Amino acid sequence: MNHADAWHADRPKEECGVLGLYTPGGEAARLAFFALFSLQHRGQESAGLAVSDGHRVHMHRDMGLVNQVFNEEILSTLPGHMAIGHTRYSTTGASVLRNAQPVYCSSTVGEIAVAHNGNLVNAGALRKELLMSGESMDTTADSEVIARLLVRNLHLGPVGAVAATMERLQGAYSVTVLLPNMVLGFRDPHGIRPLVAGRVGDGFMVASESCAFWPVGGVSDREVGPGEVVIIDHQGMRFEQAVPRAGETLCMFEFIYFARPDSVMYGRELYAVRENMGRQLAIEHPVEADVVVPVPDSGIPAAHGYSKQSGIPYHEVMMKSRYIHRTFIQPDQRMRELGVRMKLAPLLGQVKGKRLVLVDDSIVRATTTSQIVKLLFDSGAKEVHVRITAPPIKHPCFYGIDMASRGELAAATMDVEAIRNRLGATSLGYLSIEGTLKSVGKDRPMFCLACFDGDYPVPVTAEMEKMAFEEPPGVGQLATVTRGQLKLIED
Ligand code: SF4
Repeated sequence: MNHADAWHADRPKEECGVLGLYTPGGEAARLAFFALFSLQHRGQESAGLAVSDGHRVHMHRDMGLVNQVFNEEILSTLPGHMAIGHTRYSTTGASVLRNAQPVYCSSTVGEIAVAHNGNLVNAGALRKELLMSGESMDTTADSEVIARLLVRNLHLGPVGAVAATMERLQGAYSVTVLLPNMVLGFRDPHGIRPLVAGRVGDGFMVASESCAFWPVGGVSDREVGPGEVVIIDHQGMRFEQAVPRAGETLCMFEFIYFARPDSVMYGRELYAVRENMGRQLAIEHPVEADVVVPVPDSGIPAAHGYSKQSGIPYHEVMMKSRYIHRTFIQPDQRMRELGVRMKLAPLLGQVKGKRLVLVDDSIVRATTTSQIVKLLFDSGAKEVHVRITAPPIKHPCFYGIDMASRGELAAATMDVEAIRNRLGATSLGYLSIEGTLKSVGKDRPMFCLACFDGDYPVPVTAEMEKMAFEEPPGVGQLATVTRGQLKLIED
């Protein structure tokens, strides 16, 4: 476990950011590189770009942050005016280059690269089916299943291929696709993972979040709808309904934690939504205290909201080490025991003798939060009242968010008082589901809230539940990925 993992071990983990762009002026790789920076928060383990000059697809991907994976020299080997990109959070350990994205497939019909955010609940069955029909699979990633299905259906034309592929996929997915002469983006019929489309100069872009448009001078125009495909090529950008929409149930955790606060979803800027969550939390769980403190950085907007609503002053009392995630040095046992100290340092003068309201976004296993509570008491806090801007997480996620299995989720087995006791906190309050919805300003049918209420928009069977925690079958030809990738870079 590296430093970043030690801190993130008790947080829900987003698994990917995706983008696709078409820029008539060329230099797609360079633009995509800068846009990918803004999707770094969605995945820090690997990054990749696939680029086309209208004839050939070239790509590069590797483990690490965007600026570790790419440099001037590498970007100069990626010529073209179309690109897709990917940032990934991997949960399967350090050596996972095979699962870095985009994934690439070539066939008699053509070359294709695919970047994917989400999780297919039927990936195992589809993989088995593809292998049985003679297809060879190079990676363990869901994205390759999507790529292989797309390649098989390319004779139907791009929209037909997407439609035929989507009819086979079950789960949550936002996907960008690079063909030699166009970029595609599509979103699952329930719209669980986000995807927005807009303009960049004379070109067009599609990305997981609107924040990706800012650094490249672009503007996001609208969300790609559930079941919709966006086609970007020399004719411009157009949308088609590939398969009927099954609803619109965007992941509520995008609002609570995952997406960057400057991103806009459902027309709401997320910083304001999170501030509302803090206000609502103060209404639902008031307390007498001296200061409202955030767990940096994700708790900051909500702590401001709690402070404004309650009238209790806001103060940051923990300094976060901002560069710790840039190292992959393994902490030794002694450092591991120190846990959260590696990441957070208290301002002792602001903590000593104070009654604190500690605002955080979520509790998964309760290990990190209990370490923070202990750190504050060890630093002289008189009381620590924990306030969480999400309802209790009682159910696992099957749609691409790595949280924990049901047995590990604190709220799946303990009531609020038992969790408070585990945290060692003076009091504990969670935002209600109703309060969460009120903070966003949209109704219940607009969201996936399955990890809170167990109501899964894409039904989860016992078999899916089993598959979601298992390595998919058909692994065994992993060396081909590296070879294929090297060949592409050499090309
Ligand atoms: S189960 Fe929870 S984390 Fe997963 S998509 Fe639904 S709201 Fe998001």
